[in-house]
Amino acid sequence: MPESSYDILIVGGGIYGCGIAQSAAASGYRTGLIEQHTLASGTSSQSTKLIHGGLRYLEQGNLKLVYEALAERERLLRIAPAMVSREWFYIPIYRDSKRPAWMVRTGLLLYWLLSGGRSRFKSVAEPEWANVLPGLNRDNMSALLAYEDAATDDAALTRAVAASATSFGCDIREHAELASARYENSRWQTTLASGEQLTSRLLINAAGAWINRVQELLQPAPAGIAVRLVQGTHLLLPRKSPGYIYTESRDGRVMFFRPWQDQMLVGTTETLFEGDPGDVSPTAQEIAAILATYNHYFPTLACSESDIITTYCGLRVLPNEKSGPFSASRETVICCDNNESPAYIAVYGGKLTTYRQEAEKVVKLIGKTIPPLRKTDTSRIALTPASKP
Ligand SMILES: Cc1cc2nc3c(=O)[nH]c(=O)nc-3n(C[C@H](O)[C@H](O)[C@H](O)COP(=O)(O)OP(=O)(O)OC[C@H]3O[C@@H](n4cnc5c(N)ncnc54)[C@H](O)[C@@H]3O)c2cc1C
Repeated sequence: MPESSYDILIVGGGIYGCGIAQSAAASGYRTGLIEQHTLASGTSSQSTKLIHGGLRYLEQGNLKLVYEALAERERLLRIAPAMVSREWFYIPIYRDSKRPAWMVRTGLLLYWLLSGGRSRFKSVAEPEWANVLPGLNRDNMSALLAYEDAATDDAALTRAVAASATSFGCDIREHAELASARYENSRWQTTLASGEQLTSRLLINAAGAWINRVQELLQPAPAGIAVRLVQGTHLLLPRKSPGYIYTESRDGRVMFFRPWQDQMLVGTTETLFEGDPGDVSPTAQEIAAILATYNHYFPTLACSESDIITTYCGLRVLPNEKSGPFSASRETVICCDNNESPAYIAVYGGKLTTYRQEAEKVVKLIGKTIPPLRKTDTSRIALTPASKP
């Protein structure tokens, strides 16, 4: 076969595209991946960088997602110990908190059960509060709870998965933008913006927030699903974070404070976004809302806009259901053109934490069209940090 002819061509070099590339290449498929910019330049470098079950999804009653994500967390802690670390997260409860201590304790108990006992939790005694979280507002505080979860560097994890894919023979191309693709004679003829032509038996759309834009470039156009894009902003502040803190924003939503590059990362927001995903940027209201929350919790270390080191913003892909963005499902939706023998597979939404198991589901679907050379279990493949481009 010529160099640019693959069994599978993946569009998108985020965690999902790289995860599918790793699993497919390890299964023996001749795999290519194209990324319009650089690996992890989309949402996979703009997240809160947590590998977690998602305590807040318990409120939505999504026990399956939490259970599966917690199991994935344990696998990633095992296979990527240099990039995923177990941490204590603190939850301060105030007399006016939307979620009272009994409710949070119940949630932590359920979280512990769903994790098979791998998310211990505890109450921190009042005399310890000032030592554990120096600078935190203790006015009206009624309890301090703590539980175990995990944190990562999302872009580093994505690059490590890509490096693993390359080690199994995957051809990864950065600065390679899909311009169009046509399905003829049982093969995809893909044209890059550079004019280069690639061919493949299957095309996998893992373009994140660009998923429906990529779909519009395909002929014949596959059926897709409508999605909403919801932007989430983070601020990096010049304060040493006393630890990982999970709390409520001023309007009652979840907000994380976490150490990042020796400073404090605070986020996130949920703002509906319409337009070109490449143009997403933090709004003035989001920045003001995050700063107000930070200043409420750390009044003696208060920051103003001029203190902000940097801001960043990522896009969630949410199925277009009626619920608000905050309560919309974070589950991954995998669609294909034909369940018996797909030529096109699209991966919508999901979490960083669950990329590996979703990638394995995609590769199982690929197996209906082209049987794999060998069976692979990526939960047994160690991931090591890859160098930055
Ligand atoms: C604010 C925020 C916080 C989050 N925090 C967490 C968290 O703490 N933990 C967690 O588990 N999950 C979290 N998530 C979810 C997680 O970040 C995403 O599920 C994940 O990063 C999505 O990865 P992806 O590969 O689907 O998309 P992306 O990372 O966006 O990758 C898609 C890629 O496709 C490329 N592309 C697009 N069009 C083309 C084209 N025509 N040709 C070639 N390439 C193209 C893009 O450049 C991009 O790199 C968060 C999400 C957001 C928005």
